[in-house]
Amino acid sequence: MQASLLKNVFGHDAFRDGQKEIVDAVTVGKDVLAIMPTGGGKSLCFQLPALMSDGVTVVISPLIALMRDQVAALKQIGVNAGALTSGNTDEETEEVFEALEHGALKLLYIAPERLANPGTAMMLRKVGVSRIAVDEAHCVSQWGHDFRPDYLRIGTLRDDLNVPLAAFTATADEETRAEIITRLFAKTEPKIFLRGFDRPNIHLAFAAKNTPRQQVLKFVTTRKDQSGIVYCGTRAKTETLAQALRAEGHVALHYHAGMDAEERRIAESRFQREDGLIVCATVAFGMGIDKPDIRYVVHADLPKSMESYYQEIGRAGRDGAPAETLTLYGADDIRLRRGQIDEGLAPVERKQADHGRLNALLGLAEARRCRRRVLLRYFGDETEGCGNCDLCDSPPELFDGTTSVRMALSAILRTGEYFGAGHLIDILRGVSTDKIRAKGHDSLPTFGVGKEYSKGEWQAIFRQMMGYDLVRPDMERYGALRMTDAARPILRDEQKIELRRDTIVKESRRSVRVK
Ligand code: ADP
Ligand code: ZN
Repeated sequence: MQASLLKNVFGHDAFRDGQKEIVDAVTVGKDVLAIMPTGGGKSLCFQLPALMSDGVTVVISPLIALMRDQVAALKQIGVNAGALTSGNTDEETEEVFEALEHGALKLLYIAPERLANPGTAMMLRKVGVSRIAVDEAHCVSQWGHDFRPDYLRIGTLRDDLNVPLAAFTATADEETRAEIITRLFAKTEPKIFLRGFDRPNIHLAFAAKNTPRQQVLKFVTTRKDQSGIVYCGTRAKTETLAQALRAEGHVALHYHAGMDAEERRIAESRFQREDGLIVCATVAFGMGIDKPDIRYVVHADLPKSMESYYQEIGRAGRDGAPAETLTLYGADDIRLRRGQIDEGLAPVERKQADHGRLNALLGLAEARRCRRRVLLRYFGDETEGCGNCDLCDSPPELFDGTTSVRMALSAILRTGEYFGAGHLIDILRGVSTDKIRAKGHDSLPTFGVGKEYSKGEWQAIFRQMMGYDLVRPDMERYGALRMTDAARPILRDEQKIELRRDTIVKESRRSVRVK
């Protein structure tokens, strides 16, 4: 029945990777949290079970336009669906209530604002709800970008109706996931599905920013006639870089939110239509772009988080054919991104979370083996060595860093896991600052044991430790570094650890602030 509905109603020959497991769990009434990348096909995961169950599946979704689209698409394939939103005409609303009364409706989309109305729960109690499906479940996260206060009412509604809940999101960082679970699944742990984050046709590469303009030029010149995006950290840079590319004979445009709507529309439609066009853009470019054959995405500046990185590189190679990426990063980027977070208006907890997301990306930049593994592990997905990243192509030279890592860990533990990398490095290098003297840290046994490395070298070592997940910034302690369980065997000298030599040597000539 499942397969025939898939084929005959939805018109798909087979499930995509991960879909069947989710459909099965939702159908039998399990509580489910499914994390799938955008475009992965999550709607099917609640729409198909809705057809296989008695009663109505209530779908809560944040965007009225999206709900209307889905309802229209469902009706077109013969599924009885309706929406209750502020965008409804009276007739539409009437039609929905009528269908509900006759028990004919299979899917009822509800805008979250409706949940504030006590009449909604009362109405739903009467109509026989089989389950609640929550689309864009990360909207329940107060520290996320899309927080919707009305989403906080979903937990209550579910308790009230006493039905299973299936939540879907494309946002996969651990904190958001934890927050979704506490807010939506207070009483029962959901079954978690995390699938399909890998985009195996996209080649991953990072490079230290040495001569940024030359590095970008070289990259695009060897890929002439291909369409690509070059993301820049500032609006001004999109313009100067596009100009520099044109001066070298490339067809390049700039794009940022400061341009007027008409200019932006022209750039977008040229990019969609023409081959071999390069767009130098801020992150404003991409949302509405549906071009399957983007062959590369370059980050001329480091993105702000692991999530942004994943989303932005994900615009390349939608057609499944090989696509490439290159991310440049340097000390200035890290300072810029830290500054943007610190100077923003977000509450302190949110800032800490943002520092954590940036740290994760720095860990990826400093990875020593397969980048795809590091990237996917962050999203909770797994892979073996991918053979399609710069580190798989040419593994970097490593050296035994066990002694230095143990020194760093010991400095962390002896100061109660209460300090950030800057202060810890001062301890290791034996720098007698006011703070060091005030805390009496100059009398620690670790004081001055790490003199052989410069500040920059220690910063690189700390970043690699973060990349290895040996230490993690504690969001509740203003980014103080804490040791993870993975570090214990190293501290006890039961396990060795290798570090990358290239970034340490390179970074020693720079000054990079690590938090
Ligand atoms: P999202 O996960 O972003 O909500 P959608 O549910 O809108 O994604 O699905 C994205 C696209 O994938 C849609 O066009 C949908 O028809 C298509 N799709 C979903 N499941 C399958 C499948 N099993 N086989 C083929 N196409 C599918
Ligand atoms: Zn790899």
